[in-house]
Amino acid sequence: MARDLRPLVAGNWKMNGLRASAEVLRAIMTGYDAALAERVDLLVCPPSTLVASFAEMARASRVAIGGQDCHADASGACTGDISAEMLADAGAAAVILGHSERRACHGETDAQVRSKAEAAWRAGLTPIVCVGETRAERDAGEALSVVERQVAGSLPATLPGDLVLAYEPVWAIGTGLTPTTADIAEVHGAIRRRLVARYGAVGEGIRLLYGGSVKPGNAAEIGAVVHVNGALVGGASLVADDFLAIARAYGG
Ligand code: PEP
Repeated sequence: MARDLRPLVAGNWKMNGLRASAEVLRAIMTGYDAALAERVDLLVCPPSTLVASFAEMARASRVAIGGQDCHADASGACTGDISAEMLADAGAAAVILGHSERRACHGETDAQVRSKAEAAWRAGLTPIVCVGETRAERDAGEALSVVERQVAGSLPATLPGDLVLAYEPVWAIGTGLTPTTADIAEVHGAIRRRLVARYGAVGEGIRLLYGGSVKPGNAAEIGAVVHVNGALVGGASLVADDFLAIARAYGG
């Protein structure tokens, strides 16, 4: 039985955004009016250079600010890294973990993603754990097994706090391609079953986001798929009008 969960639309700005991009956040905050805020949660994850200033800007609004990665340790000799505690101190409420670009460009493993998720909870952040198969894995009929393995390996045996999971097929990210709604339903259904088998009733309340080329034009269709409880949006989250249109579609 699918449970109604409040949708979350999260923007992943990746390595985009300068101080002048505050204008985009301002437009998002203005468009996130009381009616929309009633129906959908909104999160913007800028590069780490902007987390503190964006969090300060968004303090009086209901738009939440998040990071895009964190180290598993709270502090230490890890040049260039940022800890979950630092993100929390900067005003972040959540952190994206295990994005396929980090798994591919930085060799992140499921075990490392799990440690980072534990760090996020330690610091009071909500981890948004990303999973998803490559094109070759889907073509080989391995999409479900890959995703189920990533879900199993990237999460601990018990959940000490709020968790969001994002299914992002690697081949759909930034390409304009999306799986069919039937394929999305199949993967989200499988993830939900795994989460319920592992965490019981708690697994029913974990929001499952779909990510990969979500645009204003396809958001309503994808958002209507069972067990899709929101979106993780890359490119379209950099344009306030597009991001808000997606939020409206998911809140509809
Ligand atoms: C992403 O990188 O998380 C993503 C979903 O990107 P895009 O929306 O641009 O495909």
